Amino acid sequence: MAYEKLDEALKTLNRRQLLELDTCARCALCTDLCPVYAESKNPLHAPAVRSSRVLSLVNKRLSLWARLLGPRLISEGELEELAESTYHCTLCGRCMEACPFGLETHELWLSVRSLLNLLNQTPPRIKMLREMLRENGNPYGLDADMRLDWVDYTGLEEAPVKDRAEVAYFVGCTTAFKAVNQEIAYSIASLLNELNVDWTLLGEEEWCCGSPYLLAGDREGAREAAERNVEALKARGVKTVITGCAGCFRVMRWEYPKLLGGPLPFRVIHAVEYFSEHITSGDLKPEPLDARVAYHDPCELGRLGGVIEEPRIILKVLTTNPVELPENGLEGRCCGGGGLLQAVDDELRLSIVDARLRQASELGVEILTSACPSCKLTLSDGVRERGYNLEVLDLMELLARQMGL
Ligand code: SF4
Ligand code: SF4
Repeated sequence: MAYEKLDEALKTLNRRQLLELDTCARCALCTDLCPVYAESKNPLHAPAVRSSRVLSLVNKRLSLWARLLGPRLISEGELEELAESTYHCTLCGRCMEACPFGLETHELWLSVRSLLNLLNQTPPRIKMLREMLRENGNPYGLDADMRLDWVDYTGLEEAPVKDRAEVAYFVGCTTAFKAVNQEIAYSIASLLNELNVDWTLLGEEEWCCGSPYLLAGDREGAREAAERNVEALKARGVKTVITGCAGCFRVMRWEYPKLLGGPLPFRVIHAVEYFSEHITSGDLKPEPLDARVAYHDPCELGRLGGVIEEPRIILKVLTTNPVELPENGLEGRCCGGGGLLQAVDDELRLSIVDARLRQASELGVEILTSACPSCKLTLSDGVRERGYNLEVLDLMELLARQMGL
């Protein structure tokens, strides 16, 4: 065990986080709300147990007692269990929302991932993903020149890559490269064309937004991705960046200013914010469906991103029969698609999404919408694997469809 490295890694936790760990390790109030623990029932996956494991390392190495009596030894098994706990988390933020002490657990769990990254304790499949990110600029290991393949696949007639534009549509890797999501890109592009917006794509210059780097504990990788994307957007004089992905949205809107040490020269908004404004103003008049349609809040858009009302404004004009799922808005139930859980435990991801789909199915939902390609991917996998009889669509796909696009 390289104790010098371990002690340095533990010192990356700040004073507030040490106090948070101390509080959390004595509590367990939010345990049953954690979507991972709810399905796995593995105590190691409970938020308070994770905190107690980190605190135990800090106490053994850096506490007053450790300084007086000498630091205690740490076994490899302790670090492995901490990694198992930390990566069995979708980073959904439900524990943070429920916490009566106001602990910022989302940031805390990300810091623990950074600490594990420094100790080379990141799970092997996540290390591989990070290597692909560094080599190709996307987590799927595909060439950058395939970023616009969706344009041909979906038959979109106009997909501009301009030198200058007012608005940029930041597509994101999970939309651009995953076939199940490419209609989302088609829909957003078609809606922008319908509104005659002066808009552009970044094409091959678009790079991963940086979110998977943060989830893998690689803050420096996230900062480099942020720098690269902001430069490409600035060079085009862009004033508004639209993203259809909740992960891209959260990281660009809320993390980029922190990673880059200042405000961005453009505003970042999610497509549901942009198009709900155009629905309210009467620029877009979709034909409502006669079907039971529900909206699933992506954690990174709703609870962690602060966008809750706008998708509901859109939903209400798309159907005569909108359905509100239980556990919604700030208390939205995670689909299982976050935190890179798929890379470490796909069976568990499918159990988590099964619980969400059961809720929708019990309410007789015919179309389940969301506003994130990761949610669409996970909900679609769940429907296919567990045999549910409902259609999964992104809200933007349904909007474009009801506009006849
Ligand atoms: S996150 Fe808050 S509510 Fe949950 S166990 Fe920790 S202290 Fe308790
Ligand atoms: S962020 Fe979500 S998955 Fe992770 S510990 Fe909290 S409630 Fe559980």
